Amino acid sequence: MRVLITGGAGFIGSHLAEALHNRGDMVYVIDDLSTGRLKNIEHLMSSPRFNIAVETIMNEVVMDRLVSECDIIYHLAAAVGVELIVNRPVETIETNILGTEMVLKLAARYLKKVIITSTSEIYGKSINTPFGEDDDRVLGPTTKHRWSYSSSKAIDEFLGLAYHKERNLEVVIVRLFNTVGPRQTGQYGMVVPRFVTQALKNAPLTVYGNGKQVRCFTYVSDVVDALQSLAQQPEAVGQIFNVGNDRPISILELAEKVKKMTNSDSEIKFVPYDEAYEAGFEDMSIRIPNLNKIRSLIGYEPKVQLEEILKNVIEYFNADNRP
Ligand code: UDP
Repeated sequence: MRVLITGGAGFIGSHLAEALHNRGDMVYVIDDLSTGRLKNIEHLMSSPRFNIAVETIMNEVVMDRLVSECDIIYHLAAAVGVELIVNRPVETIETNILGTEMVLKLAARYLKKVIITSTSEIYGKSINTPFGEDDDRVLGPTTKHRWSYSSSKAIDEFLGLAYHKERNLEVVIVRLFNTVGPRQTGQYGMVVPRFVTQALKNAPLTVYGNGKQVRCFTYVSDVVDALQSLAQQPEAVGQIFNVGNDRPISILELAEKVKKMTNSDSEIKFVPYDEAYEAGFEDMSIRIPNLNKIRSLIGYEPKVQLEEILKNVIEYFNADNRP
């Protein structure tokens, strides 16, 4: 099979590229290296079944050629990281909306199946957990830039579903819940690589707010497995699926766990949200996925739990990958 991965040099994209390459696929990647890195895929570069275009997905000429040549598109290219989203809102909105528009327009031209990766940010600050795919969304005002991410991804979902309804395009939408693992950088705000690198340097672990906010962390291989299985399941077409791990932990507990597992002398430092992001920043207090839908369709079960996830991330940063 010939697969196109947009954002294939990024954290999740590079793991997907590796898995699809290893199962024998011809892998095409397009990535503008805005947050992706060649280092993530350098071990694939010499393979005749791997090709990379260092280009933006907004380049229609390049995208037209790639989409026409592939059998399926995994669309992962997007603005990522709460910090980046708050600091560069124009880029976030344009990349997410215009990029997905390009992918869907070309997929419809050549009738290619598209797997769109969306996000648990879609649910916003709802506290009605666990979040089911058809649940209402609860968002703050447009003056708070964080919500532009949720809204831009919601437009991507609307557009994907619209192409499916009106043009019969095969579209599957996947909402990812805090994916973590090796190759993820803390540069754009993600908490696990942040805490691990801080702990390894014996620097303070920066817990934002009171640390009582709750997340569920999903290992990247569980996400990659789910993406592949959903892509192969005809019944998934036209539908939305949560993909995550449903075991919750508070951010303060996470900091304590990281500190313990790294034998670190770091102090735990509470940083007010206004200081960490911007004045008036709103966080989600709790985010847990309801996985019933994906469990019953493909028998999905997250295999890697937090202890092992942290062990692997610590090993990764200890192996000469410190920022
Ligand atoms: N967070 C934190 N310290 C950091 C980075 C993040 O306490 O250095 C918090 C953040 O405010 C959020 C949680 O950790 O409540 C997860 O943040 P991340 O950016 O990884 O993902 P999010 O769930 O916000 O999309």
